Amino acid sequence: MLLSGVLAPVRGIALAGVSGFRYDRSQLRDSPGIAPGSSGANAVGGPPSNLQWGIVPSHRTRATDACPGALTTHAADDGALARVRLPGGRVSESQLAVLASCAEALGDGALHVTSRANVQLRGVSDAGALAERLAAAGLLPSATHERVRNVVASPASGLVGGLVDVRPLVAALDTAISAQSALAALPGRFWFGLDDGRGDVGGPFDDRVDVCWRAVSGDTGALLLAGEDTGVRVPLAEAVDVLVDVAAAFVRCRGDAWQVRELTGARRAELLAACGEGRFARGERSESVIHRGERSESVFHRTERSESVFHLGAVTQDDGRIAVHTGLRFGTATAAQVRLLAEIAGEAIITPWRSVLLPDVDPDDAADAIRRLDDAGLLVEPHDPAASITACIGSHGCGKALADVRADATNAMSELTTIGGAPGVAAHFAGCTRRCGRPPTPAVDVLADGDGYLVDGDRVPAGELADVLAQKRATSGTERGARPPAWEARKGRR
Ligand code: SF4
Repeated sequence: MLLSGVLAPVRGIALAGVSGFRYDRSQLRDSPGIAPGSSGANAVGGPPSNLQWGIVPSHRTRATDACPGALTTHAADDGALARVRLPGGRVSESQLAVLASCAEALGDGALHVTSRANVQLRGVSDAGALAERLAAAGLLPSATHERVRNVVASPASGLVGGLVDVRPLVAALDTAISAQSALAALPGRFWFGLDDGRGDVGGPFDDRVDVCWRAVSGDTGALLLAGEDTGVRVPLAEAVDVLVDVAAAFVRCRGDAWQVRELTGARRAELLAACGEGRFARGERSESVIHRGERSESVFHRTERSESVFHLGAVTQDDGRIAVHTGLRFGTATAAQVRLLAEIAGEAIITPWRSVLLPDVDPDDAADAIRRLDDAGLLVEPHDPAASITACIGSHGCGKALADVRADATNAMSELTTIGGAPGVAAHFAGCTRRCGRPPTPAVDVLADGDGYLVDGDRVPAGELADVLAQKRATSGTERGARPPAWEARKGRR
């Protein structure tokens, strides 16, 4: 399927104002053919070789939207970066194979997983060819909405535990988002959440999730905005409609805000007023599982995240089969590792924790699958400490980086193992104060400053990181690390 087929359903939609795209309606073609004057030139990736559908993959700009997509690449130091949305993190065996071949043929040879359970390709040499391959694999169902299909769902829903199976909601929400032309104007970082009741998506530790439906029973859910409970309760059957309505309201009232957590005052009140639009009861502060502590007079109040993140290795599903949970070092999987994932299961579920669930594995095959993943360098030990060390791309791919943070993190982990076993401490290494990829949960802040690192604010030479992290591990109360100053500042702006 060429992208011309993808575009067919959206013809007639006013594309003007869709942030970050340089579409010209006249360039859309019914049949394959180069649009007049369209060289397909891509400032970083070089000219796309097979740009048959009249779309010019463009680079995002700060004036519009900073989020890259599959069609709107980001010019990183290591080349064009393309982000592929995977609603619910779900990707089929055949799609994994396509992504692996794209990474090898058109990228840096690896897939890079994001905290929204999407994947990125770095160093993309031919953005047009990439888009065509993705579209043919069903990974680019909407050209206009490709950057706004950010749907994060409880990864194990329908497999283990949970109050409801949100997998059908993921598919329905994805379809509903793309069906609304107005939602093409959502910022690319706007984030939908579907939590099956276990509290692993969109809780108070993660105010990045803009709007979330979280099950509180088998047929009802709470509506959360930026991780806080609005008090609105929404029937399961209406969850998708309400999430889409709230997103549309955000488009109308956001002003220059990119996410709900940035809204203040009247704009925040306007969005809250749009929640449920009077259809659902608000303020029913029952002793629900997501309420805690004293009740605030504010409709917004914090909710609690349950400790439901699965350990790595074999997880027994409710039906007796096995979900194999494997971690990716720094959220990166080589093409060979991706192919191995595809060999083990018919589907993979990318989690927001830079790991992958491989569901429905026969119990008799699970041990062999885990051994193969281990041999391939993926993380499978139940509490592998390497899974709690995260890092931005660093100087390998970002001009802002003040250090090769991944190399320094790898060295520190290696030394930690030598001087006293596994690291056992959550830490995030960042090349600058933007702290890209920092997890929402507490972690030691390891920040490059050009002269070494600031570890939770204290200066530490790169060669002494292991010792300092070992102290963090040994010190009660600091193991989980502190929030960086920027995070606190952001909270204070509310
Ligand atoms: S944290 Fe800074 S150095 Fe690291 S990827 Fe982000 S902008 Fe680049």
